Amino acid sequence: MQTTYDENNIFQKIMKGEMPCHKIYEDDKTFAFLDIMPRADGHFLVIPKVGSRNILGIEEDDLTAVMKTVKKLSHAAQKAFNCDGITLQQFNEPAGGQVVFHLHFHVIPRMEGEKLKPHTGEMADNDLLARHAEMIKAAL
Ligand code: AMP
Repeated sequence: MQTTYDENNIFQKIMKGEMPCHKIYEDDKTFAFLDIMPRADGHFLVIPKVGSRNILGIEEDDLTAVMKTVKKLSHAAQKAFNCDGITLQQFNEPAGGQVVFHLHFHVIPRMEGEKLKPHTGEMADNDLLARHAEMIKAAL
């Protein structure tokens, strides 16, 4: 299993402002933005600022900070979308389904009876993502 961390991965570029994103939150240890290929409306990602490939390479304090942000933003998403549930997903290494090698938690608002769209399926409309980001920010 690989343990190296690529400083030039896409999520580092997003945090550095070298690539665009629909940011919803940032603090000293964590950063959150909408998933560009959402599995449901309001699907976002929470990442640590520290460079960690996945769950196997992160210090406990940094992981705790990520989970605090996951909880805080889950409440905001629930309020924003009035959803019936929330699904968390987190993948490690290619065999575990990981595609981007900077640790991230998926937070996905769920409506009763609505199936998840495919993982890394279709890119969402940019204006729609912008609207959803505003809805979550407003609920914070
Ligand atoms: P995984 O590593 O399996 O959790 O998948 C990576 C996730 O990152 C997928 O859900 C992608 O849709 C998402 N993703 C990839 N590139 C971007 C990007 N530039 N902005 C937002 N989300 C992205």
